[in-house]
Amino acid sequence: MTTVMVDRTASGRGERPRQSPATSSSRAHAERRRPVEIALVVDGKPNATIVIAKNPTPSANLAALELQYHIERITGAVLPISTDAEEITGVRILVGESEYTRRLGINGDDFGPQEYLIQFRPDTIILIGRDWRDTEENRNELGYDTYGHSLSSLRHRIDYYRATGREARGSKPITLPGFFDDQGTCYATYHFLERFCGVRWYGPTELNIVFPTQRTLTVRGTEVRRSPDLKHRYATGGYWPIIRVQWNNPNGDELNLYWRRMRVGGEKWACNHTIWSRTMQSVFNDPEYQAKGRGRGRQLCYTNPKLIRKVAQLARDFFDGKGLPEGLKAMGDYFAVVPDDNASWCECERCQEILAISRRDKRGKGFFSNASSSYYVFNFVNQVAREVRKTHPDKFIATLAYASYAYPPKGLKLEPNVCVAPCLHICYGYNKATFENDMALYRLWVADKGRRIYLWNYFHHPMEPAVIGGWNCFPCFMPDVISREVKRYLRDGVRGVFLCGIGQQLDYYLYMQTAFDVETDYRELVDEFFSRYFGVASEPMKRFYYRISDINREEGVLGTTPELSWRRLGTDERMKALERDIEEAVKLASTELERKRVDTWKRGVWEYMKTGYDKFHAGMR
Ligand SMILES: [Zn+2]
Repeated sequence: MTTVMVDRTASGRGERPRQSPATSSSRAHAERRRPVEIALVVDGKPNATIVIAKNPTPSANLAALELQYHIERITGAVLPISTDAEEITGVRILVGESEYTRRLGINGDDFGPQEYLIQFRPDTIILIGRDWRDTEENRNELGYDTYGHSLSSLRHRIDYYRATGREARGSKPITLPGFFDDQGTCYATYHFLERFCGVRWYGPTELNIVFPTQRTLTVRGTEVRRSPDLKHRYATGGYWPIIRVQWNNPNGDELNLYWRRMRVGGEKWACNHTIWSRTMQSVFNDPEYQAKGRGRGRQLCYTNPKLIRKVAQLARDFFDGKGLPEGLKAMGDYFAVVPDDNASWCECERCQEILAISRRDKRGKGFFSNASSSYYVFNFVNQVAREVRKTHPDKFIATLAYASYAYPPKGLKLEPNVCVAPCLHICYGYNKATFENDMALYRLWVADKGRRIYLWNYFHHPMEPAVIGGWNCFPCFMPDVISREVKRYLRDGVRGVFLCGIGQQLDYYLYMQTAFDVETDYRELVDEFFSRYFGVASEPMKRFYYRISDINREEGVLGTTPELSWRRLGTDERMKALERDIEEAVKLASTELERKRVDTWKRGVWEYMKTGYDKFHAGMR
């Protein structure tokens, strides 16, 4: 395997200057550094010490363990972890803020949110960024994410040895940095392990991690200072059929660690339905603003002034740190206001008048995402925002642009503190009609300059209907679409995404890598994945992957029904070609690792498909 580290940073990739605020380490920018070469391990023997603070942040604590673990996997050598209470001689890797970084004038708080630094100095590597500190005040911060999980519940406790497949060593319980806690030191360390040490996390289990093996590990570089491109990257899951097998049945600890390696989280933002059965019983139970008619118990009267005052007060209480009832979604500067997931609107006279204006808007007619309730829903959200703006002008009311209110409302000027998340079907990237309708509404939203835009990104078709319906679908792989769209979002100033449903190993990995670094080239990434993951079996595996992608693109449909999957996409001829690819890969795989990895795709993707095909044609489904 690889014996020489590829220094991608020296050639510029990692060095793009990014919104670095003028801070103490801008001095580091001024004096252009010459590349420094540092041997961390020499001939299987440790040649460096990892140094953390005596009381490290959760981020620095994890980063030090991850660095030690991966360097051991690469070289067999275990670098010692010391604290800044000790005098350290020789080569040091300074992980997170410590007495040693302070002596060099580098503090964690010098960095902007999510910003991080990798710096090479003679005999010293610095991996640092802004980190959340475990104080009582910080622990008590209010917030519920898009799923309704509290901020504190996202600081997962794991057994680090179990998460790294080393239960035999005993147990090592640690607390991970919460998804939405600053963890710049982790970002620096993961970037360092990927780009300077050659590690790749293609999934959460040991089988999915790729790294070079060598007795000597020498790294070479200057400096990287940047922050992730998309500021909010919320994408978890991994329980669906295909990905679960590709990921080799990860346990909960492995998954929770993997989300950190993929740098899930970031900026605090949350948005989802907040007026729903639970909150209608516990928070919005005043009889005065219940919907009239068929919407009773399912929606509220969104023109009721008392309701508008009530929602505005809940937002103020959250922003003032006074409280946040369960069932609502709000984090950081955002308080979400979204009606329940049905169109049973109130039938009172006032609501019907506004709904009549709404229904005149025919954009998106016939599509899931249209404009028929836009004016009505945004009229409500806007009035709440106007109230909140009077007292909290720098805070935002977050809402979705979803289903019958997906298009911006015609004839209604939205308040500047309305933050919108259009719901887009990226998974319909090969389906022209649906995709173009989504693009039409998306373009209108991003054209509203100055408005804060996030996205709810559907990534769940065709797998979700198949899981719900108990049948197996013809999957969709779409690296070209993912790459093109994530880059588009960045270009248009979108701040972040909530990824709804994750279905396959490589497409998930590509999405997250591009969100973190928009320069990611998908062809390069896909080529690298197949060659490093499957070794000599890479060619037929890559052919198999691109063949599935090509079939979806050529047909312009997704396998969202058994008929589409197994009559339109998975024809007899195509299934034979796919089977030939897999069989060829099985024959070629030569090492145990290659055989195991090919097997996860053979069982996880191919046999899953074959079962769907057979059941459909046997009329069993
Ligand atoms: Zn009403």
